[in-house]
Amino acid sequence: MTRWIDAHCHTEDAGSLDRARAAGVAAFVVVGCDLETSRRAVELAAVHDDVYATVGLHPHEANRLDAEWDALVALARQGTKVVGVGEAGFDLFYEHSPREEQARAFAAQIELAHELDLPLVIHSRDAWDATFAALDSGGVPRRTVFHCFTGGRPEAAAALERGCTLSFSGIVSVKTADELRAAAAITPADRLLVETDAPYLAPVPHRGKPNEPAFLPYVGAAVAAARDESAETVAAITTANATEMFGLVAR
Ligand SMILES: [Zn+2]
Repeated sequence: MTRWIDAHCHTEDAGSLDRARAAGVAAFVVVGCDLETSRRAVELAAVHDDVYATVGLHPHEANRLDAEWDALVALARQGTKVVGVGEAGFDLFYEHSPREEQARAFAAQIELAHELDLPLVIHSRDAWDATFAALDSGGVPRRTVFHCFTGGRPEAAAALERGCTLSFSGIVSVKTADELRAAAAITPADRLLVETDAPYLAPVPHRGKPNEPAFLPYVGAAVAAARDESAETVAAITTANATEMFGLVAR
């Protein structure tokens, strides 16, 4: 069976992990968005060999920085199988937290990724300039991934020239996403990841339903079509990239 790694999901229930395993998903990076979800991700990783966790503060929750930061740092330091910092960045579409708070939380997490030499997992929505400016001022961590990359070729080029990896979600399967597919097509093989972002963003043919990691092969197939490669090729390169990016073997 073709083997995939879900580089970004928020899945917590054992049933959907099992369905994904049956569909060929060999590992899961379960991403924290605040202290509570980061703790739960670490706990889930402790009981499933194939689950890994990140610890971070989503831009929506950036206004919790002062309240949660010390505990988040402690969790990132001591949590076994913590393989990344984030998701972190800017969301200027919703702006649930004020922009200045988002900037402060992102800067702190860029610094933490450097300090712990962990991958930085970026969420960026309607915020390319702010995101790149923050990266340029904090320095791009050695391993940095744009989760659910939604840009076109210019944004892909800007991220790639900074050494970042692009992770594609089910949005790449949507009919209108030609510019995103063009970005997937120009992404070098060693900078490519696939993810579900479950329970959000179900791929075609499951649009509108709750997403789950079992649908990752549909994402992979859409990325493969955009790149004019086979699904097996995309599975092989993205599995190798995720393994290296998140250090999945070493831990
Ligand atoms: Zn996410």
